[in-house]
Amino acid sequence: MSDIGKIVIVGASLTGTKAAEALRKEGFDGRIVMFGQETQPPYLRPPLTKDYLRGETELDKVFVHPRAWYEEQRIELHLSTPVRAIEPATREVVLDDEERVTFDRLLIATGAAPRRLHIPGSDLAGVHYLRTLEDADAIRGAATAARRVVVVGGGWIGAEVAASIRQLGLPVVMIADTSVPLERVLGIEVGTVYRDLHAGRGVELVMNQRAVAFLGRSAVEAVETADGARIEGDLVVVGVGAQPRTELADRAGLDVGDGILVDEYLETSMSGIFAAGDVAAAWHPFLGARLRLEHWDNARRQGRVAARNMLGKAEPYARIPYFYSDQYDLGMEYAGHAPSWDRVVFRGEPASSSFVAFWLKDGRVVAGMNANVWKVNDAIAALVGSRQRVAIERIVDPTVPLDDLEALS
Ligand SMILES: Cc1cc2nc3c(=O)[nH]c(=O)nc-3n(C[C@H](O)[C@H](O)[C@H](O)COP(=O)(O)OP(=O)(O)OC[C@H]3O[C@@H](n4cnc5c(N)ncnc54)[C@H](O)[C@@H]3O)c2cc1C
Repeated sequence: MSDIGKIVIVGASLTGTKAAEALRKEGFDGRIVMFGQETQPPYLRPPLTKDYLRGETELDKVFVHPRAWYEEQRIELHLSTPVRAIEPATREVVLDDEERVTFDRLLIATGAAPRRLHIPGSDLAGVHYLRTLEDADAIRGAATAARRVVVVGGGWIGAEVAASIRQLGLPVVMIADTSVPLERVLGIEVGTVYRDLHAGRGVELVMNQRAVAFLGRSAVEAVETADGARIEGDLVVVGVGAQPRTELADRAGLDVGDGILVDEYLETSMSGIFAAGDVAAAWHPFLGARLRLEHWDNARRQGRVAARNMLGKAEPYARIPYFYSDQYDLGMEYAGHAPSWDRVVFRGEPASSSFVAFWLKDGRVVAGMNANVWKVNDAIAALVGSRQRVAIERIVDPTVPLDDLEALS
């Protein structure tokens, strides 16, 4: 550790903060300098589609730590300070005002940005994207005056925003290019549960359609879909995926694909420079694949592991992926990774909104999701991690404990 006097973190959000926290926990006594482009101290994004968007949570509840914490921990937090370049040869980052800051180790935690739709009318007032606190404030503000809301996209952001805005009492239409919401991650079987949930709460679902134009004079009045339909709405929220913010890494000559390429220790192609969280496409030793995850849990844990590895540990990041979502009164957790599967089976009745779903491939559980069933996610992750073959009739039987791997085979 002795050769490391200063660690620079680019990106002041969850990954960066968890890394800084872990550095101090590990006993690192040198300088930690964190640069963030946003004006607010690091905050949690999940509430931005949920309680914060609905106005049920105060601003100070979404911060990762109170402002004073950074001083107590001697973390030099520079907000509203974008890093313009990384210069690996001289081990410096360059700020907008040309100031150069040296580093011994660097963590890139620049996250992701919403993918934008480039279709006619994209610049109309009333068309929103959601990534930041300011975005959430703007949507919430617009919702107080809106008559009808159109959500473009049936992924996590779209589905959660549709739920929250419905809960605020506004009419909502969701347009998605899949046959059910969340189909790309969860498939038809579980996506159907979400379709029924939203439909039951009064969301109008326009499926298998793409938005091709935003219509209106100065502000949006409607969304046109590929089949020529005109869907009225004076507030539009677009959630069509996110792109990793790799621009600094690209220009610095680091290896980049769909994210900054890092090994299982979260180190980039240049020694001493690490990347973690939404921006990192990390080699996952258990799954034998490169994964870029946009999940809260991944941000927290990769931040910590990157910190320890910057200090010279060699800790592979091999956690089974985990994420969660809350929509209306349906809370869920998901463990695993299922880019493809042969079969989905349920323990419990999906229509009851209280069930566990398993995605199976070659007789093994590759992912599981507990919906309104709690304290089972660790067991699901262990089951995925065991790679053990399971007997379908045992796994769907609620009397067989999920943490008894022997009983499930
Ligand atoms: C609205 C919303 C809801 C979510 N809900 C859930 C959920 O329910 N469950 C779940 O598991 N996950 C959820 N997520 C995902 C989770 O929030 C992200 O995985 C997590 O925020 C990633 O953290 P990060 O620090 O890697 O990146 P980010 O949070 O994107 O932070 C990156 C930071 O780096 C800054 N930055 C970028 N470039 C520079 C630069 N050049 N110089 C300085 N700073 C820079 C950015 O401004 C940003 O502040 C949600 C995400 C969003 C947007």
